[in-house]
Amino acid sequence: MQLWFIEEQAPGMALALKATGTVYREKTKYQDLTVIETVDAGRALVLDDCIQTSDMDEFIYHEMIAHVPLCTHPLPEKVLVVGGGDGGSIREILKHDSVKEAVLAEIDERVIEAAKKYLPNTSCRLDDPRCRVVIGDGFLHVNTHPGEYDVILCDSTDPVGPGIVLFSEEFYQGVYSSLKDDGIFVAQTESPFYYRDLLARVSKTLKGIFPIVKTYVTVMPTYPGALWTFTLASKEYDPVECVRRLDLETRFYTPELHKASFALPRLVKDIVGA
Ligand code: SAM
Repeated sequence: MQLWFIEEQAPGMALALKATGTVYREKTKYQDLTVIETVDAGRALVLDDCIQTSDMDEFIYHEMIAHVPLCTHPLPEKVLVVGGGDGGSIREILKHDSVKEAVLAEIDERVIEAAKKYLPNTSCRLDDPRCRVVIGDGFLHVNTHPGEYDVILCDSTDPVGPGIVLFSEEFYQGVYSSLKDDGIFVAQTESPFYYRDLLARVSKTLKGIFPIVKTYVTVMPTYPGALWTFTLASKEYDPVECVRRLDLETRFYTPELHKASFALPRLVKDIVGA
């Protein structure tokens, strides 16, 4: 007998991972949380039936969401992650010696607890003295901490449930005011195949708020469509011009890839009007 985890990623498309079983399951106040053990992708965190992170490819997503803005900013000292309860973004941020404090604003405490227990490779820096966990809505956080951060990452779920607000213009206005005068923001902006309208809208909205807005791409084998986008919005530094070469221990990110990831496929250029 074979056990398969199947995620219907789009009405006509699914990802199937051969599994050995369910490691943990709970219905939290906000979402259905499951940790599964798979044959090829290792442990995976699944929220409301959508894979959030898997041992196989989480490093790609977390290195690309963190190192692109942190290697663009000349001296990132205070960094905020909105969402990101699995801890992967915090792990990458804390590889930067300049960072004095990394704040994690996650709405669902149970995601953090489950990640600490069942996804140790991803959550391994959540108890670091430079990491401060704030349980609460990231929308409220950015609207109550003006001028505080050098870099803000939005490591959110898809735009469903509590994640919807993290794709709104009001949230981006809050992010702008929560950043210092030369701050940088990056959001995960989903698949260009399955979230075309959302990517276009986020890019357009951010362009109305920040002077520099650029989308970059990476591969993510377990995410819908496998081609993934991030959108970076900056008050001063251009992410293609300013790339600091740091001695970071990475498996995917390189300074060359940093620049190359802004060379967009025509499909994505057409969506974001680049
Ligand atoms: N890398 C993942 C992806 O692209 O699918 C995202 C991972 S992380 C687990 C997403 C987190 O965002 C979840 O733990 C969820 O609880 C959190 N979240 C959703 N809405 C939020 C909000 N309004 N404020 C703070 N955290 C939120």
